[in-house]
Amino acid sequence: MTFTIGCHLSIAKGFAAAARDAISIGANTFQFFTRNPRGGKAKQLDPVDLADFADVRTQAGMTRILAHAPYTLNPASVKPETCEFALQTLADDLQRMEQIMPGQLYNMHPGAHVGQGPEAAIDKIAAALNAVLQPQQTTTLLLETMAGKGSEVGRTFEEIVAIIDRVELADHVGVCLDTCHVWDGGYDIVGNLEGTLEEFDRVIGLDRLRAIHLNDSKNPCGAHKDRHEALDEGFIGFDALAAIVNHPALRDLPFYLETPHDDLSGYADEIARLKASRS
Ligand code: FE
Ligand code: FE
Ligand code: ZN
Repeated sequence: MTFTIGCHLSIAKGFAAAARDAISIGANTFQFFTRNPRGGKAKQLDPVDLADFADVRTQAGMTRILAHAPYTLNPASVKPETCEFALQTLADDLQRMEQIMPGQLYNMHPGAHVGQGPEAAIDKIAAALNAVLQPQQTTTLLLETMAGKGSEVGRTFEEIVAIIDRVELADHVGVCLDTCHVWDGGYDIVGNLEGTLEEFDRVIGLDRLRAIHLNDSKNPCGAHKDRHEALDEGFIGFDALAAIVNHPALRDLPFYLETPHDDLSGYADEIARLKASRS
């Protein structure tokens, strides 16, 4: 099985350019924001770019991409207009994914309960997913594990599965595990990776896990902060992250770096190092 590794890239110059950027740094997948991460309107899809993108992928054998929803979306908001905006954006993004590349992954932050408590938020998030998921959709929607900053929902595996359990088309839903987030959320993936994965399997089921965000953390385990760090420069460290990309239960998943770098060479170095670590 090939090592599917990439990083977050900009699609400002189009999808084909992003795929070429990925290939230039040794990646065979990439993640992108579907639109300005703070929300707003998505750029019109360009059929010429999409055809070019398909050619680049075919030539490079790129079979996996991951879209990321704007992180400001909150389908659990107390404001009806914020919920409505989240709903419209999710529905629009999912429709666009069918045109960009069918059969791929679309990741979202579940939301924030903003004082209503996680239970009420979980109901609202599930209701939003029930409104936007379509039976004929080929895209799998992923809920990202969160650090538990502020009133974020999805810090615990229990909260994630509570959402999935309320979704009718649960076959279209999976989970993206962010190493910085689970660490900040209190799961010790350094000292007890095995125990964390056992817990994930018992609570959610490892069959739901479809992608990994591979990040080091600027903070200790349980800090609830969500500040990503370059690999090996944070509290998680390279060895623990290498153990993750080599773990039998995880090694065939796609991995995405969301580490802070000023240019592509920072990602190229991390990708090369991770490839070298693969046993
Ligand atoms: Fe994210
Ligand atoms: Fe992430
Ligand atoms: Zn994060």
